[in-house]
Amino acid sequence: MTAQVFCVANQKGGVGKTTTSVNLAAALAQLGCRTLLVDLDPQGNATMGSGVDKSSLKTSIYPLLVGLSSLAEVRCPTPGGFDLLPANRELAGAEVELVALDRRELRLRDALGSVADDYHMVLVDCPPSLSLLTLNGLCAAHGVIIPMQCEYFALEGLSDLVNSIKRVHAGLNRELRIIGLLRVMFDPRMTLSQQVSDQLVQHFGDKVFSTVIPRNVRLAEAPSYGQSVLAYDPSSRGAQAYRAFGQELLDRLGVSPGAPMQQARVLG
Ligand code: ADP
Ligand code: MG
Repeated sequence: MTAQVFCVANQKGGVGKTTTSVNLAAALAQLGCRTLLVDLDPQGNATMGSGVDKSSLKTSIYPLLVGLSSLAEVRCPTPGGFDLLPANRELAGAEVELVALDRRELRLRDALGSVADDYHMVLVDCPPSLSLLTLNGLCAAHGVIIPMQCEYFALEGLSDLVNSIKRVHAGLNRELRIIGLLRVMFDPRMTLSQQVSDQLVQHFGDKVFSTVIPRNVRLAEAPSYGQSVLAYDPSSRGAQAYRAFGQELLDRLGVSPGAPMQQARVLG
């Protein structure tokens, strides 16, 4: 097993990064993938949404990134069947501290190196910025998954993210690719949703995942129970959509969890 690492990134807040990270992690776990979720956002929403209390952590991703804890100390199992590197407010300080450290943008990559053989998939839930934390995510990753809300300003700012990805690809991480754009919070009753969705497909072609995540209240409710939607309401449309997305991702990558991971192939 050599883990494929994917960032879930979009510098806008509230576009479904954390919802996608947690529910994709749960879906991949159900599909038989050994999965690690990395919470790289000081808000700790992915941590809470995975059923781990961010206020009672003994250690977290912050000491891991600055070299004060080992990955084995930080990693914890979750009820959803995937492992987690949890985060809390402490991580906000990492921005400042990391600047002074050597290999400051490679800290996450270095940390994950020791567990690459433990997992099929590593998902990184990025903060809503193009900060040094997000840069750590991009440097550690093979690919980026970009959740996009199908609304009028969705495309605004996307070029900044794409340019950041290009810069990281050119200077720091030749393996980095955009795996795909995921349409989320889709509302079929809104003409606008359909129009923006069509525009995305026109612009980005087969980089747009064919699975569409609908707006579904169960997805919004699940985190307050510390559960993925797959556990909270397995038959909801949100759960069905994230299961389908997990399978589509594996199909795109040419991965089946039973097969040797060396055959994994990241689309260019
Ligand atoms: P981000 O991590 O990009 O800031 P979140 O995943 O936290 O975004 O989502 C923002 C808000 O929207 C949250 O309250 C979440 O529960 C809700 N949400 C996300 N995706 C959906 C969806 N498909 N349907 C309904 N609510 C959603
Ligand atoms: Mg988030």
